[in-house]
Amino acid sequence: MSARPSPSPARALCRRGVVAFGVFVGGLSGCGAHPRTSAPSAEDDRGRGAQVVLRGKETPAAGYDVLDYDASLRLVPETRAISGRVRISVKVRAASPTLDLAAEGMILDAVREGGDARAHGMQDGRLRIPLEGAAPGTTRTIEIAYHAWPSRGLRFGKDAVFTVFHTERWLPSSDLPGDKATLTLRLTAPAGLTVVASGDPVAREPLPEGLERHTFRLGIPHAAYLYGFAAGEFHEASRAAGKVGLRFLSTERSGADLERVFTGTEEMLRFFEGRAGVPYPFAHYTQVLVQGGSPQEVAGFAVLPADYAESVLSEPREDWMIAHELAHAWWGNLVTCAGWADFWLNEAFATFMVAAYKEQRWGADEYGREVLLARRSYGRIRQRGEDRALAFPGPVRAKDVSGPISYAKGSAVLYLLRHQLGERAFWAGVKAFVQDNAGGAVTSDALQAAMAAASGERLDGFFQQWVHGTGVPEVVVRHREEGRSLVFEVEQRQQGPWSFPLQLAVETDAGRESRTVAITAGRQEVRFPLAGALRSARADDGGHLPFAIEHPRPAPMLLQQLRHEPDVAGRADALERLSGLCRDAGETQECAAVHEAMRERAEDDTSRLVRKMAADALAP
Ligand SMILES: [Zn+2]
Repeated sequence: MSARPSPSPARALCRRGVVAFGVFVGGLSGCGAHPRTSAPSAEDDRGRGAQVVLRGKETPAAGYDVLDYDASLRLVPETRAISGRVRISVKVRAASPTLDLAAEGMILDAVREGGDARAHGMQDGRLRIPLEGAAPGTTRTIEIAYHAWPSRGLRFGKDAVFTVFHTERWLPSSDLPGDKATLTLRLTAPAGLTVVASGDPVAREPLPEGLERHTFRLGIPHAAYLYGFAAGEFHEASRAAGKVGLRFLSTERSGADLERVFTGTEEMLRFFEGRAGVPYPFAHYTQVLVQGGSPQEVAGFAVLPADYAESVLSEPREDWMIAHELAHAWWGNLVTCAGWADFWLNEAFATFMVAAYKEQRWGADEYGREVLLARRSYGRIRQRGEDRALAFPGPVRAKDVSGPISYAKGSAVLYLLRHQLGERAFWAGVKAFVQDNAGGAVTSDALQAAMAAASGERLDGFFQQWVHGTGVPEVVVRHREEGRSLVFEVEQRQQGPWSFPLQLAVETDAGRESRTVAITAGRQEVRFPLAGALRSARADDGGHLPFAIEHPRPAPMLLQQLRHEPDVAGRADALERLSGLCRDAGETQECAAVHEAMRERAEDDTSRLVRKMAADALAP
């Protein structure tokens, strides 16, 4: 028998999402972190009044800053083509820069400025347009006419046409995540389709030949990778969440089904707004279910795979994907990594905020489940030899940041930071991080600064170990009784001790005591008074650490822990160890008791993760 839980359907989807994203990032190149150098510019569109504080934008090393894209595009489903033109306005920061755009697979029809043709070069999917004579401080507008049959980035699916991450496949654009700009998108499509796109709908006009033009305006600058649209013959349900109109679209599901699938959206929105301290920035939030879609955050809406609906309808706690993409509206879309080197910030926060939402919606067991799944995923990454620092020391290409590490290790590090700082300081830091940077672009230093200010700790060691460093400490805990005391001996076996908070717990027949101690040395002892007969000694009580600790315990204590540890990590850990002990032992008396306890857990545990692990462990 095995105590390793097989991945849940949700995790399988999650991995698909990551893989899909891996494909996405592979198509982008040549961008990295740049220090913030520009003051907030006069051209910043302030969106909906003062609701969103817009900060200075990243200035690409190239010496200009994209301010606005004004695109008029025609969608031709019969030939799977897109064609049109985009006017790109840039603020010149250095004399005579070269506009360097991602334009993968595009066929250029014209490049003009003020009606005059402009010299340009197209190589390896990059369009370069020298802005000769451009003086710093001036604004230039270049018009590019083009057409394309995108093999990626735009999917002509069974039930809908929708964009998939690769903006550069349908719109020549900057692929620096920190280079945020506003967007006007005029999309001409066959008449009668419902169209959703980044920003707010402005106009819908009939055109000759059975066509319609839909116009959208994204007035709050966003990174171009967050631009997108979806068009189809959708069923629709809608609901108001305060000032925000929620829309749910699908070609398959009825309005009533959509209401049920997305029933938690309003509560999520309120929760994220509360934690961010910044209102959701748009008048609408739309969620579109499409066949063959990957989970994807877009400015003002989200695309979700159609089959995900079934998993939420059969298990409402599988609401993670809805929460993840909505969380990006703040963490990723408003507060964006300055370069791909700090991409982990986007995904770690979206993943973390899912767990935080689930904790308040479904209880501590669901938070514990997310924490444990992240720790395990990070463990598998290390086993594969794919561990790395969350933040890269210098500029990297987008394809270098693909894979699950930003999600798994990233969220595990935030779970630990929350535990280390405590509720007040941690959430104050999260709020300051969003409020100070909404509309802007950040590096890991901005997160450290916000958390340091909120907690009064510098956190250099924490960020050095967990964000800029690689690996985890190898920790062995032993416990022994000494008279009326229980002594924990904590040993770090790796070269050079790490610093981390370790929560230790002792349970006797007189009660339970749990205490967090700062581990800073290679070997430390921690003493607890024993008020009665020892039942349980526990290292990493609550399961806050991003790695597992080795802690040998006798089977009777593990049995006690399997039944009575208050947290998911404690019961899951006992279950795995007992299952390991009895895997090859046959039906000894002790293992008969273990199997009995596992059957009990499979039936009665409050956590669906522990129930599933117990059932898997018992399966022949
Ligand atoms: Zn994400």
